[in-house]
Amino acid sequence: GRRVTPGCAPVSVGCPARARGGALSLLYEAPDRTVCLFCRSAAGAFPAEIVPKTPRVVPFRDVNPQAPTHVLVIPVQHAANAAELADADPGYAGEVLAAAAEVARLEGLGNGYRLVANIGVDGGQTVEHLHWHVLGGRPLTWPPG
Ligand code: AMP
Ligand code: ZN
Repeated sequence: GRRVTPGCAPVSVGCPARARGGALSLLYEAPDRTVCLFCRSAAGAFPAEIVPKTPRVVPFRDVNPQAPTHVLVIPVQHAANAAELADADPGYAGEVLAAAAEVARLEGLGNGYRLVANIGVDGGQTVEHLHWHVLGGRPLTWPPG
């Protein structure tokens, strides 16, 4: 990893992380020197309308939503996937999961929803930074494809 100064997206209530006065994250740099997409999102994307209780987790809306609510919930610190974070730091893994459930409550998904964490190639993971998909707002089919 390589330290960079994270920017904040201009949102109506300002950047909560900046308001807390904290440095944000150590952006993960892959061997090919690309900076992880979701490390960048964690540093810069703070949707004003969903603010979690913990500064170590960031929710943001999926750019290609598959349901009326489709929010991604990620740890600010880089972890490749849910299994890796559960191994490395179970407390942090639980914090991310609890934040995903909190997002579902804030989104009014009292009728139910789905949490999905794709892992690896067969799991269909395309971004290698842990993200819980919070999907809801319509009846979801099972099984997945
Ligand atoms: P997965 O296939 O589980 O790795 O999910 C990756 C998700 O990230 C997909 O649902 C994409 O639509 C979403 N995504 C990719 N880039 C962005 C972005 N810049 N902002 C928000 N969502 C994104
Ligand atoms: Zn990352």
